[in-house]
Amino acid sequence: MDSTEVKARARALGFDLCGIAPAGDFPELNFFPQWLARGYAGEMAYLNRSAERRADVRNVLPSARSVIVTGTVYNTDRPYSTECDDPSRAQIARYAWGDDYHAVIEKRLDALLAWMREASAGPFDARRYVDTGPVQERVYAQHAGIGWIGKNTCVINPGIGSWLFLGEIICSLPLEPDRPSFDQCGACTLCIEACPTQAIVEPGVLDSTRCISYLTIELRGSVPEALRPAIGSHVYGCDVCQEVCPWNAAPPASADPVWQPRPAWDRRTTPDLAAMSDDELRRAMRGSAIRRTKVSGVRRNLSVALENLRALE
Ligand code: SF4
Ligand code: SF4
Repeated sequence: MDSTEVKARARALGFDLCGIAPAGDFPELNFFPQWLARGYAGEMAYLNRSAERRADVRNVLPSARSVIVTGTVYNTDRPYSTECDDPSRAQIARYAWGDDYHAVIEKRLDALLAWMREASAGPFDARRYVDTGPVQERVYAQHAGIGWIGKNTCVINPGIGSWLFLGEIICSLPLEPDRPSFDQCGACTLCIEACPTQAIVEPGVLDSTRCISYLTIELRGSVPEALRPAIGSHVYGCDVCQEVCPWNAAPPASADPVWQPRPAWDRRTTPDLAAMSDDELRRAMRGSAIRRTKVSGVRRNLSVALENLRALE
């Protein structure tokens, strides 16, 4: 089994992109402790707890030689939030419209790994992760040629854009690596200028404590008053810095049923969502990434959005 066969199998399993990075000691991995020291992780204590492991995939799998990185397009054919002029429209981040990506991508990575074990001449060590692992997956994605890390901190593929779920299999096989992606942001600063809360404090550096994604998903407790107006009608996450990116100007849309918007979230208004009962919200959140905030988190976000809507009247 070689790299070409692994990538062909990944495509057959529904991954749009697959690349391979060596399990190396990349300079980009070294910024993470500084980012934490600046307090940009906010209440995400798990990032501090796992900082040492995140320094290198060999801390997670000591025998690691290669990191297979997959990319899956989740964009669907709905317009961008920045194209919507109805302030009552509840804005939900695109990645959360369909089924929970963790479960879907994990299942596909398991199928790829099962095939690799069958195709391999001998046994090997491996671990797979989707987003939640102690791995700086964007750095490995860049070194696997999936895309570069943009000033908005997202991985951008020059042909596909950044509406991508990443997944990775760290393994002890010495697979032929791909060439790393190179930065193609150039002089563009659109994402930095468009961010409603000025959360991108330097190119490629995000102060999570100001980011709407953090404020509406990761933060427990109430949203700081000073930041509430800028949240506007975002009730779960934010896509603005990706929507304005020129590399997402004409992105491919996935026909995969798992990423299509669930009716409960599809072009709904904030008052409509606020009128749903807890049971209705719970049912809509079942098997969806939105479960992360629980019903109470969604209600908190809806109150902020309603407050902002009333302020416009
Ligand atoms: S997700 Fe929204 S709030 Fe966060 S950095 Fe991007 S534009 Fe700013
Ligand atoms: S908007 Fe411009 S600067 Fe920001 S990630 Fe896209 S290309 Fe890079």
